[in-house]
Amino acid sequence: MKTLPPGSTIGILGGGQLGRMLSVAAAQLGYHCHIYAPEKDSVAAKVAAAFTCAEYYDSDALIPFAEACDVVSYEFENVPVGPLGLIKDMVPLFPPASALNIAQDRVEEKNYALAQGGVTAPFAIVNDRGDLEAALDKTGYPAIIKTIRMGYDGKGQARVKQGDNLSQHWHDTGRKPAIAEGFVSFSHEFSVLLVRGQDGEIRFWNTPHNVHEDGILAVSTAPAPQIILDQEDAARALASKMAEAMDYVGVLTCEFFASDDGPVFNEMAPRVHNSGHWTIEGAVTSQFENHIRAICGLPLGDTGLAAKRVEMHNLIGAQADDWQELLSDGANHLHLYGKGESRPGRKMGHVTKLYF
Ligand code: AMP
Repeated sequence: MKTLPPGSTIGILGGGQLGRMLSVAAAQLGYHCHIYAPEKDSVAAKVAAAFTCAEYYDSDALIPFAEACDVVSYEFENVPVGPLGLIKDMVPLFPPASALNIAQDRVEEKNYALAQGGVTAPFAIVNDRGDLEAALDKTGYPAIIKTIRMGYDGKGQARVKQGDNLSQHWHDTGRKPAIAEGFVSFSHEFSVLLVRGQDGEIRFWNTPHNVHEDGILAVSTAPAPQIILDQEDAARALASKMAEAMDYVGVLTCEFFASDDGPVFNEMAPRVHNSGHWTIEGAVTSQFENHIRAICGLPLGDTGLAAKRVEMHNLIGAQADDWQELLSDGANHLHLYGKGESRPGRKMGHVTKLYF
């Protein structure tokens, strides 16, 4: 394990709010972040030491970026894996590119979880419209069509009931290779948030209970209700097996449904995650700081709760316009991501409250 001393430069592929919060955590530890992203108005670049604005396939930009960095990480799940090969030959890359490869493909991801002994929803591959009926026969109704690649926050998804117009659903999800996934009957959703160091040490944060609205995370609360805690050991065991099998370094998030038969693995994010934003104030060490610690080879920080109860609410679209009212409660920790325009469904910020 190589320790990178403070003063070193951390490259981050992706320029969104996760990169922004990673940059703030890195700055606190004396590191400099260099953001690489194709969007000009990157909200991460606004708080980072350096910014390369270029396409992910632009090797003329990637090579000098890698040369300028002592370690590289990523905060965006759809960074193309190809160019990462170029980077990892020049500078350490954490988490490994293989984790991104798995997470970008819903079939790979589910098969990986199954291979490590996990349980997933029943699913069938739909390469084109003609496969849809047979796939839905396998999964049963209701079901969800999810594109295999590039789906997030409920995008590229359609919920299907018996008797629906399947051609319409196929059109709505973009006519792209997809899976049909059987609907899981669950009482709660939760995520396992872990950090794995370069020496293989794994630490877990308290398991948050997550509530989604319209396919987008709305609220995360820790500690979770007992019904989730009863499934925590099994879910953690799967998440840590997956992390070990990938020789993972950094923060890994696995999302689960709490069903009557135990935890059902939904998906993993090879990065810091929205359901861990509460850790900034609500844990002794945040997911952002521990990700930086892990990739820089520093000792991991304590992941314990900093209060009796912590609640994080996302501010989606116009909800962020209430910032003044939110600030009128002096116990609220308000985070705004510096995004100019509040479009519907866009994550604009979040607010965390600790209860003692
Ligand atoms: P995903 O993009 O897979 O995380 O899906 C977004 C949200 O849709 C999840 O957090 C669930 O609330 C819901 N969802 C996804 N897949 C299923 C499923 N198989 N059964 C029931 N609800 C689901």
